Amino acid sequence: MIRKILTLGAPILREKALPVHKFDANLRRLINDMIETMKSANGAGLAAPQIGVSQRVIVVLQENDKPLPLVNPTILHSEGIEEDEEGCLSIPNLYAIVPRPAYVKVSGFNPKGRAVSIEAEGILARALCHEIDHLDGVLFIDKAYPDTFRWVKVEKAESKR
Ligand code: ZN
Repeated sequence: MIRKILTLGAPILREKALPVHKFDANLRRLINDMIETMKSANGAGLAAPQIGVSQRVIVVLQENDKPLPLVNPTILHSEGIEEDEEGCLSIPNLYAIVPRPAYVKVSGFNPKGRAVSIEAEGILARALCHEIDHLDGVLFIDKAYPDTFRWVKVEKAESKR
């Protein structure tokens, strides 16, 4: 089911999301909805608080366009800094340059509750950091270089998260 994506001003976007304890059908339904919602909005990632659910669940689109869901994700290790333009499905049409780690190692759980760890670089590392920030109420505008903000009227699907 496609859910409504909340935008800047919704209090839940600034709250710390709660850890998931039950890996049940409700969680899998939430993840399916998140994937469907992300795809319909042409996003590269989505965090549960963006659809009004205060739980530590994210989905990101991998290089092969396969969605990767992660529950209770944690950044174990990061290296380097890369500067690139970023946007957010919850802040439509606004883009800015955000410094992010060039490499991250992230641990978490898959929808069945199995522990997984992922190493990522570039766009995927950026997407993981962006979505994990959402779980702590942090938005890309908090980390962007202030003089790089720009409004884009035309939909620019590939860099929305
Ligand atoms: Zn976002």
